[in-house]
Amino acid sequence: MRSENTRENIEPRDLGWTPEGHATIAWSDGHVSTYEPAYLRKICPCAECKGTHGTPPKAFTILSPKQIRSAPRQVVIEQVEPVGNYAIAFTWGDGHREGIYTWPMLRAECPCEACVLRRRIDAEGQS
Ligand SMILES: [Zn+2]
Ligand SMILES: [Zn+2]
Repeated sequence: MRSENTRENIEPRDLGWTPEGHATIAWSDGHVSTYEPAYLRKICPCAECKGTHGTPPKAFTILSPKQIRSAPRQVVIEQVEPVGNYAIAFTWGDGHREGIYTWPMLRAECPCEACVLRRRIDAEGQS
């Protein structure tokens, strides 16, 4: 937990949307994250999407044909609700709303080039 502490202290200062409909989070350390709705759905942290412990997480590539047909609705964000002061929850076009996206998780999944590069370096450092 030691090295995680500083990251968990980073809080969102502002939430918004780009003209393209991407969610943006401005963090207390000045970093800004931009998330496509499809990406947010892909990283949904609920048990159903991630699979239970020990089984591989679901991904778009292993959706059933029926699920693929409803995919456009799956990546439409209909509602965003705060969960306490530590997370937000999205309601999706297909009714899915089980995922609770905590701030540290959203920051850890930031898809910007700098963060992707840093995560890649972190992963390489462990091997
Ligand atoms: Zn989910
Ligand atoms: Zn980033």
